[in-house]
Order: sequence, then C-alpha cells, then structure tokens
Amino acid sequence: MARLRVVIVGAGVVGASIARVLSRFENLDVVIVEKEPDVGWGVSKANTSIIHPCHEEDPEKYPLRARLCLEGNKLWREWVRELSIPARWPGEVIVYHTEEEEVEVRKYLRLAEANGVPGVRLLGREELRELEPNVNPEAVGGLYAPTAGLISPFEAVIAIVENAVENGVRLLTETRVERVVVKDGRVAGVETDRGFIAADIVVNAAGLYADRVSHTAGVEEWFRIRPRRGQYLLFDEDYPLKPQRVLHTVPTPKTKGVYAITTVHGNLMVGPTAEDLPEEAREEVSTTREGVELLLDEASKLLRERPDPKRVIRFFAGLRPEPPDGNWLIKAYAEPWGFVNVAGIRSPGLTAAPAIANYVLELLAREYSLDLVEKRNWRPFRQDITRVRGRSLQELDELIRKNPDYGEIVCYCKFVSKAEVAEAVERMRRIGVKTVTLDGLKFRVYVGFGKCQGSFCRTRVAKIVSELTGVEVKDVVVKYSSLGVGDVKAAWRGEV
Ligand SMILES: Cc1cc2nc3c(=O)[nH]c(=O)nc-3n(C[C@H](O)[C@H](O)[C@H](O)COP(=O)(O)OP(=O)(O)OC[C@H]3O[C@@H](n4cnc5c(N)ncnc54)[C@H](O)[C@@H]3O)c2cc1C
Repeated sequence: MARLRVVIVGAGVVGASIARVLSRFENLDVVIVEKEPDVGWGVSKANTSIIHPCHEEDPEKYPLRARLCLEGNKLWREWVRELSIPARWPGEVIVYHTEEEEVEVRKYLRLAEANGVPGVRLLGREELRELEPNVNPEAVGGLYAPTAGLISPFEAVIAIVENAVENGVRLLTETRVERVVVKDGRVAGVETDRGFIAADIVVNAAGLYADRVSHTAGVEEWFRIRPRRGQYLLFDEDYPLKPQRVLHTVPTPKTKGVYAITTVHGNLMVGPTAEDLPEEAREEVSTTREGVELLLDEASKLLRERPDPKRVIRFFAGLRPEPPDGNWLIKAYAEPWGFVNVAGIRSPGLTAAPAIANYVLELLAREYSLDLVEKRNWRPFRQDITRVRGRSLQELDELIRKNPDYGEIVCYCKFVSKAEVAEAVERMRRIGVKTVTLDGLKFRVYVGFGKCQGSFCRTRVAKIVSELTGVEVKDVVVKYSSLGVGDVKAAWRGEV
C-alpha cells in the first residue's frame, strides 16, 4: 500500500489534533515539526481555557467558525475522557449591569438560537445570585449558557500528542520550518534548520507564524497575522474568591469580554485584555500596569469583591493570531498540490480544535482524492500520570510500597512527588522531546505552578532531571534559559 507522507508544521492544539485524527489511518505517515523544545508552547499555552458554548459566533459573518466551534464543544467531551485531560463543565454567564448591556446581551440569545446552542437563557438578579454566589450583588442579570467548559489547555496538547505518537505519529522538536519546498506545482517537503524533510502533504498549523509559512509556499500573500495580546492575572489557589461558573463581561466587537474563572487547577484567573500589537511583535508577552488595573476593574464588575492584587501569583500574557478579516483560513490547495493552510486560528480555536482536525481530514480526502485505510489497532485512550495529590493515606501507602519515590515530595505547593517528575521525564522522552525543560515539567506535573512559583522546588526538580538525563544541574533549561546566570537567551541559541 502506497503511504503518503504528511508534515504538520506546529505542535499547538490545532496541529496536535490534526495529527491525532490522521493517526487513525494506515496509509498516512505523519510527522509534526515544532520549533520549540516541547509541544504546546505557542498560543495554546496562554489562553482563557474555555470550551465555548458558541453563542458568540455570528454564523453569517463567520460560518465555519460558528459550525466548528459547536462541533468542537461536543467533541471535547469525548476527547477529555479518552485522553484523561483535566476538564469541568460549569456553564458560563455573561453578567450585565445596565439596560444597554441587556440589549446587547439579547443579541447572543438570538445567535444561540441561530447556532443551535442548547439551553441558553436569561437570568434575573435572584436566579443569577443563586447560580453564582460569588457574583457582584449589583449585577442586574445574566445570560446563562450551560454547555461552557474549562480544560487545561497545555495538558490537552501534551495528552493529544502522547496519544498521536502512540498511534505512530513522529514528533520533531527544536526544528524550525524555514520554507515549504514546491516542485512542479506540488509540495516536495519542508526545508528546516535541521535539514530537508520530504512530504507529499504539508499542513501549516504554525499559529502566530502561519502567514509566513504560507507565503513560503507561494500562497495567500495578502494574508497577514497580527498579534493581539491578552494579559491575565492568576491568583493563589488558597484565595477563596472562586466563581463556580465561567463569568464574563459583555462582549465587544474585539473580544468576548473579560472573564473571571476558577481554572481546572483551582485558581481564580482573570483576563484577558485585548491589545493590538504591530505585526512584528509576535513574541511580545510582557504585562503592563494598565493591563493589570483594567483587569481588576473589570473583575470587580463580575465578582462580589474586587480581587486582591496581593494574592496574584503570576501575571502573564498570550497572543491571539488575528487573521485580517477575523476568518480562519482553512484550505487545501490545488496549486501547489498538497499544501494545506490551517491559519489565523484565533478564538475559539481551542474549542474548535478537534472539529478543525476532522474538517481537515475531510478536506484532504476530498481535495486530494485520498483513499484512506483505517488502522485496526488504533488506540483512542491515554492514561494520565500517576499523581499523589488527592489520594487517601492507604492509597499513598500502596504507591510508596511499590515505588518509594512517591513518598519523596519535591513540591509542597502542589504536592508533587519525585516519582511523578520521573514519569513526566520518561513521557517527554517517549514523544521525542530532546531537551527536558523545567517548563515542560511544570505543564505536566505542576512543579512551579503553586504559590511559591518554583522558588522551593526548582533546584530540587533540576537535580532529579540531572540524575535522570545526565545534564548538569546548572544546565537544566527553564524556557530559553539555563539555571546558570548570564545571557541566557544567547546561551540557549548556542551563541555563548
Ligand atoms: C488571550 C487568548 C485567549 C484565548 N482564549 C480562548 C478560549 O478561552 N477558548 C478558545 O476556544 N480559544 C481561545 N483562544 C484561542 C486559542 O488559544 C487558539 O485558537 C489556539 O490555541 C491556536 O492553536 P494553534 O495550534 O493554531 O497555535 P499554536 O498553539 O501557536 O501552535 C502553533 C505552533 O507552531 C509552532 N511554529 C510556529 N512557526 C513554526 C515554524 N516555522 N516551524 C515549526 N514550528 C513552528 C509554534 O511554536 C507553536 O507551537 C485564546 C487565545 C488567546 C491568545
């Protein structure tokens, strides 16, 4: 049977989901090429983590977005179960304070109907307070959408890639695609900073850089991505102000509003802002005083009290890959044959990712007349890492008897054992991560995620990494830097 070689550029939630869906077929040989040391370090890492109900998508203006959002919301329920991804389904409320806001909110009631979003309804003041005891008592009402969910976005990418790799996909990290190579009107492969990779089909899921990748294939010169920054405040897990629902302010033409949520890891999170940045500012994730103040003001409209900035444990920002007209660019080209754009995937891209993946599969089958053969032994399931937190003493005892490293706690904020770190390192190697980073471990086992943000565990975890990988403790990498001092970015690039 002739096998088709597929290169997917980018291991974000979109590229990973496409890889998982394509891994179901025997006659596809799939490679994901990712420039970063690990998966999910792009847009997919820093977002609001909501699986949207999709009553904010206008089906006339953005028909594909509206359809795939709704399908994605349904598919995630299956995917989080199959792949053991942390998720909750609390529903969401748009909170309003004035008559003008109520008029605006009613628009989403109509969109809910047009999109077929189930259960969306208006709430009066009393019902709103019953549904959400933490809501600002001055709020007049809300629009409730019961199908909203929350997931752990970075663990979602990790889980999807682990499952895809188990089903035969290969991952190449620290490999940047420089250009798509076209010969005689067809893609021939991609030129990377590590050499040429031959391919029959190239799927461009490069997030903030997808326009540039597309231009190297000679298509969509007009299409340019602009970064739109979203800043966030993440509060201490012990801070008791924890909304039970996803709350947000009334959407604007630019954004879905500011949200106050309790993340799946149990922290109050407030954000995002919406700031258009120049085209070249695609790594500009700094936070600002104005951003922080705006978020605190907006959160006060949602919550029973103004969140205390002293309880913030992390300020961070993400960048939305804004397409020129707000529309996602998902297209399989006849010229060059084999080139597929999945570009400009701004919100609700996280929600839609599994549905985008199915849509890309349909496109490939239709546009390139692929005769796909399903694997008989495809595995839909992936187990999570064995964790000690939340277990009974008896369960802990059993674990420790099997492996004493479960009894060695390295992070007290999140209660993480040495055995979990070791399992995460092992899993990173299994999917093809070449450099074990402290960031990669944070996203897998939460070391450095708690109140102390790693000041207690960082060197302890680095020592374990050193033991397991042979890398010296001072050379263990935290994103783009080693634990040593100096020009850490340059050190990462090998310039010093
Ligand atoms: C502030 C904010 C809030 C959001 N909130 C939500 C939300 O609550 N719900 C929701 O549904 N959506 C939300 N989104 C949108 C969602 O996060 C994105 O749509 C989604 O993560 C996009 O995924 P992606 O895989 O396309 O991009 P990415 O995650 O950026 O993946 C692209 C990958 O390609 C890699 N790459 C780039 N160039 C190259 C190259 N040349 N060679 C090799 N690799 C390359 C990158 O390193 C990256 O890992 C939000 C986005 C932001 C920024």
